Amino acid sequence: MAQRFALMITPVDAADTRKDFSDTFVEMDVSAPALSVGEFSTQRGDGVFESIGVIDGHANEVEAHVQRLAHSARICDLPAPHLEQWRQAVAVAAARIPQGEAVVKLILSRGVEHGPAPTAWVTASPAPDFSAVRREGVRVVTLDRGYDLGAGERAPWLLLGAKTLSYAVNMAALREARRRGADDAVFVTRDGFVLEAPTASLIVRRGDEFITTAPSAGILHGTTQLSVYEYLESRGFRTEYATLSVSDLATADAAWLVSSIRLAVAITAVDGALLASDPALTAELNTFLRSPR
Ligand code: PLP
Repeated sequence: MAQRFALMITPVDAADTRKDFSDTFVEMDVSAPALSVGEFSTQRGDGVFESIGVIDGHANEVEAHVQRLAHSARICDLPAPHLEQWRQAVAVAAARIPQGEAVVKLILSRGVEHGPAPTAWVTASPAPDFSAVRREGVRVVTLDRGYDLGAGERAPWLLLGAKTLSYAVNMAALREARRRGADDAVFVTRDGFVLEAPTASLIVRRGDEFITTAPSAGILHGTTQLSVYEYLESRGFRTEYATLSVSDLATADAAWLVSSIRLAVAITAVDGALLASDPALTAELNTFLRSPR
């Protein structure tokens, strides 16, 4: 039977000095209603979230995820989350699925209209089985994101660097990719630069150098990309943040989509043209990403 778990959190002020937050958590019945009909997360997608990979009960890269939750909250003018409260909630949730691969989700919503505080909760559930796609890779199509490289800095109200709950566009891009006979998408700016996938960061290899799009382009700074970079640097490779054109992707020596739950998957084709891949390095990256971090 699939184990699922949900914990409602009463968010405390970021300056709260208590050590133990367990009395701010309430375990919920996952099959029972838990949110008010006035919730802005459900009405407007107005909130931020994180998805953390859990392997055999160990939650990976918790610090990077709670820091990014705080970063997203800042961009969205949400009250600053108390990081230690969230770390403790993650630990409680991860411990509930001690075997296999799981996902812990952190959700911080603007709350209810005229309500006293944001609404916050974490869930834990088993992850889909991604072993085949980690072995076989994905074919991607490039899809227009509708704005240029400078939009993130020019128009902060677009919330481009925040991991908001408004993922309808990201999901629509995945459906469009499938309609075009591919498995995944890579977003492209109006001025021809590749950004990220709807649910993953892009890393491109050119010789012994690995390049990813700089977060200043208005994309998420991926926690998995950060870990992969640390690993590659420890292996003596050079890593870089830069701008990458569509032809940089199409002519790369290899490329990957990386994310917390699916981990590293090789890109095997771009817009129908085959791309070289490196199955040994992909397997090595996934061995590293599956280890406790
Ligand atoms: N970019 C987007 C748009 C995402 O949704 C995600 C993850 O869901 C990522 C990048 C990769 O982030 P992470 O490695 O932290 O999972």
